[in-house]
Amino acid sequence: MKSDMKTMLSSTALNATGIVTLVGAGPGDPDLLTVKALRAIQNARFIVFDNLVSADIRALFPAEAKTLYVGKAKGHHSATQDEINQILAKYAQSGVNVVRVKGGDGFVFGRGAEEMLYLTKKGIKVDVIPGITAASGCTTYANIPLTHRGLAQGCTFITAHADKQLSVNWSALAQLNQTLVIYMGLSKTDLISAELMAHGMSSDTPVAMIENGCTAQQRVFTGVLSELSQIKTQHQIQSPALIVIGEVVSVANQMEWLQQLSQRAQASEHQAFRLTA
Ligand code: SAH
Repeated sequence: MKSDMKTMLSSTALNATGIVTLVGAGPGDPDLLTVKALRAIQNARFIVFDNLVSADIRALFPAEAKTLYVGKAKGHHSATQDEINQILAKYAQSGVNVVRVKGGDGFVFGRGAEEMLYLTKKGIKVDVIPGITAASGCTTYANIPLTHRGLAQGCTFITAHADKQLSVNWSALAQLNQTLVIYMGLSKTDLISAELMAHGMSSDTPVAMIENGCTAQQRVFTGVLSELSQIKTQHQIQSPALIVIGEVVSVANQMEWLQQLSQRAQASEHQAFRLTA
């Protein structure tokens, strides 16, 4: 890979600075890429990507493009944010156009703005392409609306991850009476349910955990707030997973029930047809 990079740098070393295109690739299903994101990926010669970029999306990377993985899985960083910034700048300054692919939307808990500001300060042109964020894609694929008349008038996206100390206004969140979508919350389920309940949210509030949303491996589990950690352990939920808290989760439960009902109706129609045919 390193020697490939050298060849690319020497073959494309122009005096002009390259452009960095920050691409939000959505939560996993390649069909959820925007047309603009797909075009940027298909025209890429050099791609720098994260661990949240699904295998199906990576399969769309052009065979002739050079790729560099800078995945940041929690606990084992393969490259720090500073190193990633420097890598992007180094290639752009050598005249290479860089396509920086991130999971979901780069501006939603994706540190995309940090990269944009760093590069812009260095005089490097940055284009940003939004993507479908996990909160939107994963809930929709799990039949959970983020808002629903009579159930939730709004929704709040929060991260349960912090570099130092988590500073979340639990009291405000518990009183909002809106849908809460928690990113990077898997290791904090005890804290999340305890804090929300301590600040007045009902222990019966519906919750959902969505693992690997919008991929063929998607798993969705629902329950109530007091059971959040139990759901995680019982089903051995792994990252990436999204936590959804609020009455809107009951829509998914209704959908499941309705789907079962319609499957049963279809089965009995077939049965009736067979009996009369
Ligand atoms: N920029 C991304 C979020 C990055 S933070 C976006 O807009 O979606 C990483 C967190 O996002 C994960 O820990 C998880 O909580 C959530 N996430 C991202 N993709 C996911 C997926 N396919 N399924 C479930 N959760 C996902």
